[in-house]
Amino acid sequence: MENSSLGLTVCAERVAIFNAVSNGERKIKTIVLTSNLDKPIYPPCGACLQVMSEFGVEEVIIVHGDKVIRHNIGELFPRPFTDWRKQDS
Ligand SMILES: [Zn+2]
Repeated sequence: MENSSLGLTVCAERVAIFNAVSNGERKIKTIVLTSNLDKPIYPPCGACLQVMSEFGVEEVIIVHGDKVIRHNIGELFPRPFTDWRKQDS
């Protein structure tokens, strides 16, 4: 969801996750990104990867034309933020 103020923009990945969560899902295993445009599809941004990590996403699959690229979430986002209140001291 693009907006003229980039700070108000929300990526399609987060829109999809928030929609799933608002419809009762609590764990999302896989995210598939695809487009019918000729432009390449880039891996998700850090904000989306953080949200994905918090909802248990394990794999991000990018489909573009005949190409299917699979990424483990740990490969794309090896050190997600964690809630400091949940960390062991
Ligand atoms: Zn994003």
